[in-house]
Formats: sequence, structure tokens, C-alpha cells
Amino acid sequence: MIRPQQLSTAWLSRECDSGAWKRGSRYFRDGRASLGAVERLPDGGLLLTGSCQGSAFEPYRQRIEITQGQGGIVLDGECSCSVGFNCKHVIAMVLTWRALAPDEAGDAAELDTWLTQLTAAETTSDNDETLLYSLAADGRESEVDVSLIVARPKTTEAGWTQGRKASVSSLASNWYRPEYVRHGDNEILSLIRGESQFSNQLQIAGAAGHLALMKMVESGRAFWRDERERALATTSSAAPGCPLA
Ligand SMILES: [Zn+2]
Repeated sequence: MIRPQQLSTAWLSRECDSGAWKRGSRYFRDGRASLGAVERLPDGGLLLTGSCQGSAFEPYRQRIEITQGQGGIVLDGECSCSVGFNCKHVIAMVLTWRALAPDEAGDAAELDTWLTQLTAAETTSDNDETLLYSLAADGRESEVDVSLIVARPKTTEAGWTQGRKASVSSLASNWYRPEYVRHGDNEILSLIRGESQFSNQLQIAGAAGHLALMKMVESGRAFWRDERERALATTSSAAPGCPLA
């Protein structure tokens, strides 16, 4: 039975090339990987499936088997990107699972070491990346869907770049948050995460949801669909069709 504690950074970095390791750990820290399902294989190994945001707007999909081989643990990670095998997307997914996996008692020190090693593997940081909330109407009812988008402010004009979708699962970890998650975002995320952890879209419902929605608007980083030029405001000038109008 393979346990999360067995998957050290040293092991993972040996299972891929150095470029995939560097960029994959960076992708993990950016919250690009979204864990879909975790299954136990009959031989005690693990099957992880999910998606990871690459350079395209739509994410790549991964199917990763981690099994006990004769010479040690083996990573067999397939990906829909052009590299296709044990690529940076696979690395980001394994790190995300490792971060979310429950740890056994007394394992905090090991986890600290692991995080330190990971930080050392990282090269640069984009600290102008910012979390945006993209709102859309839910087709079925009068509820609101929220997508988390990581974008940068445009340099030449007002507004934001198209950015990329951020996964809810990578932001749900209690001990690690990407840099773009600010103090106010923690509060919003804790109000809305709940059962949406494995989905890329958050559904706003109930009193907590509506409080979260107000806080998103107050942050000045809530937008209607992909209209990034104008943030939603409490006395709203929102577009027709937006429930805040
Ligand atoms: Zn890939």
C-alpha cells in the first residue's frame, strides 16, 4: 500500500526530467492542477486523474498510476499535452495530491521539510498575479456560478489579462496557498468551498454564499463573465443579465 509519506520530492524529481520537475513544482505552487479522482489499485498502488492548466485556456487531462515496482515506486503519468508522459502537468498533479492527502500524526515535520525542498526547487515568482472572481448565471436556477481566474493587470490600459482558471482543489489546502491568494480571499474561499472542492466551478448558494458574493464584489475583483474592464460594484452598473444588476 503506497502512502503519501513515501512520495518524497527526491523520488518525484528522479521520475521526470529537470525541466518538468522545475516547471511542474511551479505549476503546483500556482494552483494549476485540479485533482479529479483518487482510486486505490488492486495491488495497493494509486490512480490519480485530473486536469492541469497549461499555456492554453483549456486544461490538459492526466491519468497517473503510482505503483510499487521491484526497484522502488514507479510513476506512470499520461497527459493529453504534446509531451504526453511524466510531464510538468503530471508533476503538478502528484504534488497537489501529496499536499491534499491526509497526513498521519507526527508527520508535520516531514511535511515542513517537503515544503522547504519544494521552495528550493522554485526559481522565480510572478507576484503581480491576482485572483479574480468571474461570475455567471447558473442555467437551472437563479443561482450564481463562480470561476476562479488568475490574471495580471494590463500594463498599457485598464483591465486584466485573460489569465487562466485556478482550481478549487489546489486552493483548498489549509497549509499552503499560492501567493495570489490574499487575506480577504481566504475568507471568501472558506465561505464557498465546502463540497465544490473537486470541481473547477463554485456554486453560490445559501446565506454563506451570498455573504461570499458580497465580499467578492467588495474586493473590486469580481467580474461578470469575461468582461474584465469593469469590476462589479455594490451600487451596480452590471451588465444586463447579471443577478447583481
Ligand atoms: Zn502534460
